[in-house]
Amino acid sequence: MPDNLSPEDRIRTMRAVKSQNTSPERRLRAMLAGMGLRGWRVNPKDIVGKPDIAFSRERLAIFVDGCFWHGCPECNRSMPEDNKEYWSRKIERNIQRDISNTEKLQVDGWKVVRIWEHQLKKRGDLKHINSIIKSFIIKPTLWSK
Ligand SMILES: [Zn+2]
Repeated sequence: MPDNLSPEDRIRTMRAVKSQNTSPERRLRAMLAGMGLRGWRVNPKDIVGKPDIAFSRERLAIFVDGCFWHGCPECNRSMPEDNKEYWSRKIERNIQRDISNTEKLQVDGWKVVRIWEHQLKKRGDLKHINSIIKSFIIKPTLWSK
C-alpha cells in the first residue's frame, strides 16, 4: 500500500481487503442452500486462490468477483481521482491473478465458476448461475432432495 493514500482511501482499502463476508457471497451461499447443496467450504486456504466456495469432492470452485476490484467490463467503475494510477494498476494485477488462479485450478482438474458481484443482484442471472452450478454438480449424494 503506498504511503500517499488519504485517510479515507486507506479506510476504504482496509475495508475492501477484509470484505470476506459481504452480501454477494452471502447471497450465493443462500442460493446454494436453496438448491439443496451441502458440504461446501468457505475460503479454504489450501486451495489456489481461496475460492469463495469450494466443493472439494466435486472439485468445483466458485468465485464471486467484486466488480470494482476485479475489473468487471459491464459495470462502470469510477476510479477515485486521487491515485488513479495506483487503483488501475491494482485492478490490473487482480485481473491477472484471477486468470492465473483459474488456469492453475483447471490444470489441477477443478471446474471453476466465476460470478460477477452484479450478477448476484439480478434475478435472471441467478437462474443462469443456478443451472451452471447444477450442471457441474451431478453426484446425487450432494443433493439433499
Ligand atoms: Zn459488474
